[in-house]
Amino acid sequence: MNALNIDLPKLEVRRYSQLVDGKSGEAMSGERFERRSPAHGVVVGNYPLADVADAHAAVAAARNAFDTGPWPRMSARERSEILLVISERIAGNAEELAMMDVLESGKPISQARGEMAGAVDLWRYAAGQARSLHGSVPAGLGQHMLGLIEREPVGVVAMITPWNFPFVILSQKLPFALAAGCTVALKPSELTPGSSLRLGEMLKDAGLPDGVVNIVVGYGNTVGQTFAEHDDVDMISFTGSTQVGKSVVRAAAGNLKKVALELGGKNPQIVCADADLDAAADAAVFGVFFNVGQCCNSSSRLIVERSVAKRFEEKLAELTARVPVGDPLDPETRVGAIINDAQMEKIEGYLKGAIEAGANPLCGAERIKANAGLYYAPTLMSGVTRDMKIAREEVFGPVLSILTFETLDEAIGIANDTHYGLSAGIWTSDHDRALIAARDLRAGTVWVNCWMDGFSEMPFGGVRQSGLGREQGAQAIEEFTEQKSVLFHRGPRAGRWVPGV
Ligand code: NAD
Repeated sequence: MNALNIDLPKLEVRRYSQLVDGKSGEAMSGERFERRSPAHGVVVGNYPLADVADAHAAVAAARNAFDTGPWPRMSARERSEILLVISERIAGNAEELAMMDVLESGKPISQARGEMAGAVDLWRYAAGQARSLHGSVPAGLGQHMLGLIEREPVGVVAMITPWNFPFVILSQKLPFALAAGCTVALKPSELTPGSSLRLGEMLKDAGLPDGVVNIVVGYGNTVGQTFAEHDDVDMISFTGSTQVGKSVVRAAAGNLKKVALELGGKNPQIVCADADLDAAADAAVFGVFFNVGQCCNSSSRLIVERSVAKRFEEKLAELTARVPVGDPLDPETRVGAIINDAQMEKIEGYLKGAIEAGANPLCGAERIKANAGLYYAPTLMSGVTRDMKIAREEVFGPVLSILTFETLDEAIGIANDTHYGLSAGIWTSDHDRALIAARDLRAGTVWVNCWMDGFSEMPFGGVRQSGLGREQGAQAIEEFTEQKSVLFHRGPRAGRWVPGV
């Protein structure tokens, strides 16, 4: 038993269905697969295993719903009302959805509950955007011309999502695409498909027409690749690793579909000597150990002013020792399990390499045995230099690389010295330094004296190899639209092109 009194060995393994053209059912092959909780080692879900044929069926249903169905033709008010009903269904079932994400991913229940609240807000925000989307009329085209710039849904959108925030990431995409009038073929990660499939049931109940959202779960090189290549897909919205993102771009070139990418990061926090060091230390520990560091926004690099580096490292070590690690079903837990063996081995490989290169573990750097699950101790690495792999590549684990600087220019230079550009931050009480850093840090988001605060109103996305396009924010719906220019001539045609007529 655990803090929530769930008897895991006796847990009834949930059997999920895929959703194609409004019908819940099995994959065409009839094959199924299972997922074990990485935190407890027991089977927690059983899912239909979709293959290329299911991916084609999902796209065909979305295509048909877009080309002939009611969804793109409805008024924005009607679409918005359905999105609001869905948001209420999500709110009403938030605990069940949170538990699915916890059992499949190993993330702490307190965090998963927060993610569901964030997801509900995104659905509500998107419902509002359905009604505020508008085109425009340029005023200066002359007396004979009326120009209408319309916004149309882009069409069939294929969505591919990762395992680290299964429901929130889906909610950063799906409600905005639906608000615009698009139809969707969705492939959640094969490691965490439960909450997406459960959402499929809610969409049907809320009155979404058949075929508007189709959800199939399979592997990236079958279902994902088929979506990315498919000629009947007008846009692909992908969240995942930079490496797979690049292969999605290559596959999408066949029909030049629109591509939106949310990819990896190696996000720096700069800590200046004049900062509130206690607040910065807490944010540094939160920034890197949140979601066990398996987070695109993980602040995996800390760049500390040399004069306070020693004192700051001591603060970090003290706080790290107090972070509750273990069973994600315990509401006090802050750090849960690592997603799978491959990820665990990747983390260990990076640490081995860093130690060989001369970095020094201040704490952690070892596995923790608990609950028959995969746990890794929160790890602080001192003496990291900017050329080390651990300072440049995404570890995706609870590992903080600590570097030092003398001048702000040097700090910004180190911060910008990767291929990524998702997010960055600075801690300082000097407004000038904050404003210079906010201007010069090459990232989609810069946090000043805070870390990872997010709002539906604020656009999110990366520059350089962290992505293409933005989710959330006032323009989120526009990502799922195309502009159309319509030109109306007023009055008789003036003059003729063909001479002498
Ligand atoms: P991943 O790239 O391995 O997989 C992501 C998704 O792509 C999964 O559904 C997977 O099945 C699918 N996929 C795999 N190969 C594919 C292929 N050839 N064609 C099409 N689809 C394919 O990433 P992951 O391990 O699931 O997630 C972790 C990564 O995601 C990290 O790099 C992280 O930084 C990134 N991420 C980014 C954001 C963001 O908003 N920028 C958010 C969360 C995660």
